Amino acid sequence: MLRVSDPWRNWAGTVVAHPSAMRHAATADEVATAVVDAGRRGTEVRVAGSGHSFTPLVATDGLLLHLDGLSGIVAVDAEQQRVRVLAGTPLHVLNPALQAVGLALPNLGDIDRQTISGAIATGTHGTGARFQGIAAAVSGLTLVLADGSSISCSAETEPEVFAAARVGLGALGVVTEVELQCVPAFRLHAKEAGESLDALLPHLHAEADAHDHLDLHWFPHTDRVLVKRNDRVAPGEGPGPLARWRATLDDDLLANRVFEAANRLATALPHLVPGMNRLTARGLGAREFADDSWRVFCSSREVCFVESEYALPRDSVAAVLRELRAWFARTAAPVPFPVEVRFLASDDIWLSTAHERDSAYVAVHQYHRMDAGPLFEAFEAIVREHAGRPHWGKVHSLGADRLRDLYPRFDDFREVRNRVDPERRFTNAHVRHLLGD
Ligand SMILES: Cc1cc2nc3c(=O)[nH]c(=O)nc-3n(C[C@H](O)[C@H](O)[C@H](O)COP(=O)(O)OP(=O)(O)OC[C@H]3O[C@@H](n4cnc5c(N)ncnc54)[C@H](O)[C@@H]3O)c2cc1C
Repeated sequence: MLRVSDPWRNWAGTVVAHPSAMRHAATADEVATAVVDAGRRGTEVRVAGSGHSFTPLVATDGLLLHLDGLSGIVAVDAEQQRVRVLAGTPLHVLNPALQAVGLALPNLGDIDRQTISGAIATGTHGTGARFQGIAAAVSGLTLVLADGSSISCSAETEPEVFAAARVGLGALGVVTEVELQCVPAFRLHAKEAGESLDALLPHLHAEADAHDHLDLHWFPHTDRVLVKRNDRVAPGEGPGPLARWRATLDDDLLANRVFEAANRLATALPHLVPGMNRLTARGLGAREFADDSWRVFCSSREVCFVESEYALPRDSVAAVLRELRAWFARTAAPVPFPVEVRFLASDDIWLSTAHERDSAYVAVHQYHRMDAGPLFEAFEAIVREHAGRPHWGKVHSLGADRLRDLYPRFDDFREVRNRVDPERRFTNAHVRHLLGD
């Protein structure tokens, strides 16, 4: 057992925790021993993924468990296109390893720094009206419970635990292994262009249905939106990948370094933000390329920000964007980051933000050195009127009372939790706020 001298911080630096102890487990047995020891001491246990959640899900003053040694693919079933993966595997390790065996995850978010277990625990998702979030690709998982025993679940075995544990908020036990239903490795043909939001909104749904993975980045205080249309193509089809110099220029220099400098300027002179956004939006260039799916889905995000994201019924998305635009116009709020819009098909996971609902996701971001409070408050008031469900890993203020209205299987989740963690070993103040005890 290591005593902790340094506090734990999330990626954005907005959540700081002082665990009383920290352990690194490299096997399921080591996880079980750590959990049982914590039980003897009466200490709460949280697992840290790679700390990319903005909500205090990981924070604990008890035992903080790291699974960095529990990484890699353990088995490949080529015929079923299924792989068994250790829970601490980061997506940036998993994606190339899947490619090496001719497989891929069907859909991904826009970065690959998360662990597989952290990503599924919060319902991490990408975009695509016919595709689902990462947790929907889970066909089985194994959890270490509070008494140190293990439970494996799937649609056939312990189906209720399976329905709860895929998006489990780390509140049921420690996931040690995940089975993923993959698809054959595929390429994406990316077309990106700056367009008018007003012109796009009337046929937004047609666009979302016409493209495999539609992703929008709208710049507040402007009518300009960067539209990314990514479509699946057969091997050898479509243009080549981005030239290395172009990728470096766009992603490293413009998206990260120049954007960082612009955000620092915005922090010092916030009244300049509307004008800066208009300038950035005018410069949105078009590009077209094709590459391995995971190379197109994921990019690097070096500029630090905080984010709030809500899943909405698809039909609400245009109204929410119009209301947000009216709020920006009314307040001239200095927000240099674009608002992101994505789409996803429904799934059957009890606490998935897309549970039984085809969804549109709207995400607002703020540079980490600037005040996100007014933006997040106004955003939450808008999406509340549209039955918005907050991303579990992104800033929101909802607690059990409201979440119960939004999730028809909320109390079923709590019942599974009562069964597998009756003494509440896997909890913290935030989880208590979310789940009601
Ligand atoms: C720059 C950036 C970009 C992002 N992009 C997207 C995106 O495109 N789409 C999207 O949906 N989200 C996105 N997110 C949010 C992010 O995907 C989620 O917050 C995700 O949960 C982070 O994974 P992690 O490994 O860092 O987990 P952490 O944040 O460390 O942990 C998340 C939760 O998982 C639990 N957990 C982790 N491992 C286990 C385990 N083995 N057993 C039990 N519980 C466990 C933790 O206890 C905690 O409750 C982004 C975040 C950032 C900072």
